[in-house]
Amino acid sequence: MSSIQSYDNSQALILIVDDLPQNLQVLGSILRKSKYQIAVATNGQQAIDVLKNISPDLILLDVMMPGIDGHEVCRRLKEQDSTRDISIIFLTAKSETDDIVKGFELGAVDYITKPFNATELLARVKTHVELKKNRDVILNLIDELEGKNRILEKLAVTDSLTRIFNHSHIIDRLNNEICAAQRHGDPLTITMFDIDHFKSINDTYGHQVGDDVLVEVTNTIKEALREIDIIGRYGGEEFLVVMRKTDRHGCFIASERIRKNIEALTWDHDNLHVNISGGIGAIEHENDSAASMIKRADECLYLAKENGRNRIECGEK
Ligand code: GH3
Ligand code: MG
Ligand code: MG
Repeated sequence: MSSIQSYDNSQALILIVDDLPQNLQVLGSILRKSKYQIAVATNGQQAIDVLKNISPDLILLDVMMPGIDGHEVCRRLKEQDSTRDISIIFLTAKSETDDIVKGFELGAVDYITKPFNATELLARVKTHVELKKNRDVILNLIDELEGKNRILEKLAVTDSLTRIFNHSHIIDRLNNEICAAQRHGDPLTITMFDIDHFKSINDTYGHQVGDDVLVEVTNTIKEALREIDIIGRYGGEEFLVVMRKTDRHGCFIASERIRKNIEALTWDHDNLHVNISGGIGAIEHENDSAASMIKRADECLYLAKENGRNRIECGEK
């Protein structure tokens, strides 16, 4: 991670814009003596053009120039994303008080009066170069932190083994979907899947094979779902699938397809067969919640286990 620090002048690039060659020469020699890197432009248009290729830390910008004057150059630079953040110091004659005020209004960070006092000029340049460099560091840090926050937010809702949503997040999502479905009058169903005799898979083949089975079952369910469906790991070997805009009949067909796909999987271990049972819950009441739908799906899942496992029960009345 980068940190705030002070800089060698030679790390800073300064663009000087002035229509008088003599001014460019004086400024250039003061800055060069202090080891700054410099670029020059002799009019407003040239300054705008040269900024398409370089990104200086600071611009020293003469106000009075023929053609596009300094104020107009500043206005245009502040309009563009690529040049907006470059610090601008105006070069003005002592008497031009209105110009100074206007320069600040246009977004300049400072002004330097002509004729130049080398010590004052260098002090102002140094201050603004360091401010600009440190602002860049802070903006980079913010970028970095935002990236890390996004990763943390993802981790907070993800099950580490299967990479699908975890218990609390799938419930949050289900509650959101219930609200949306009620609002739009859409059907909504869920299936609670549970791997059959998973304990004996662990006991026979070991915990690692059990974990591999969980991952493979997750991927098989995911492959059979539509983009708009949502899946989460509800518990150890239990998966909650939320089927949006799907009624009980559609959910049963999709869940059966998933059950059959898992039954058809082949495994690298002798005599390993993996089956799942599923119980379906649909929205039935206005005040339904994740808890009431999950309770209904659980009751159907219990029935599926009772009725011999490797089957889906949909609780049709
Ligand atoms: P049923 O057909 O009635 O569902 O029987 P079952 O054996 O699948 O159900 P039970 O609830 O008795 O056992 C679930 C097992 O899942 C017990 C637990 O050790 C195992 N389990 C839970 N989480 C994990 C995990 O992350 N990895 C592995 N390998 N096993 C897990
Ligand atoms: Mg089980
Ligand atoms: Mg279970």
